[in-house]
Amino acid sequence: MPEPGGRAAIKLEAASPYELRVNLGKDVPETDVRSALATGDMGFLHSFTTGSTVDGPGVRVVAWTTGCMWRCRYCHNPDTWTLSNGMPVSVARAAEELGKYREGLKVMKGGFTLSGGDPLMQHRFAAKLLAAAKKMGIHTTIETNGYFGDRVADEELEKIDLVMLGLKSWDPERHKRLTGMEIEPTLAFARRLAAHRRPIWIRFVLVPGLTDDPDDMAKSADFAAKLGNVERVEVLPFHQMGRYKWERLGREYELRDV
Ligand code: SF4
Repeated sequence: MPEPGGRAAIKLEAASPYELRVNLGKDVPETDVRSALATGDMGFLHSFTTGSTVDGPGVRVVAWTTGCMWRCRYCHNPDTWTLSNGMPVSVARAAEELGKYREGLKVMKGGFTLSGGDPLMQHRFAAKLLAAAKKMGIHTTIETNGYFGDRVADEELEKIDLVMLGLKSWDPERHKRLTGMEIEPTLAFARRLAAHRRPIWIRFVLVPGLTDDPDDMAKSADFAAKLGNVERVEVLPFHQMGRYKWERLGREYELRDV
């Protein structure tokens, strides 16, 4: 189906999210962008990838959204920060694409993961796409920093089988230095998910000299342990696979010696 802006020819599937993609939605008129955000009928995607075994249980199809207000110093996908770097895709087309993998995902005990960027920057699109996946009987996961968790309605939470929540640091000052944003909305979302008994996997990126303070880590662990709905904690090693994106985007990559 042709997409707004005539972009049907652009390939949505990428070999990996490490493909640098910019300006795919730059020709979409501002009014269409506003309407897309308001209705969720269209979203902006960096890409679809298939066969992931690291973005939730089993084998996953992952849709990577664009748009993120955070500026994590170790972010490996800075091209996803800007909404207009993504390709405009209707919910119908995204669901159709996902539907092709429906049976295979069930066999491989996997599902669909919506990642980013931060998918809740486009929360209406996220809610519609996750609901469409759920309707097809596909396990749904969202990978988010949780900052806009309060945008997700209670009934929409029911369509999300798993939330992979990035917990970056405990100390508010350190968190702000690391991400540019406050930690409290993320913690509030975690507490709300616990109250609704929605499963969480916590993701924590271990960066030498930046997030490896033992006291800070102990406090994050204590918080996670007390929530009662955390099924798993993943400590991810820092890597520099996204460094070239920072350099190609003309951004200063401060962690080049880490
Ligand atoms: S929240 Fe995720 S996408 Fe956003 S800057 Fe941080 S690592 Fe990058």
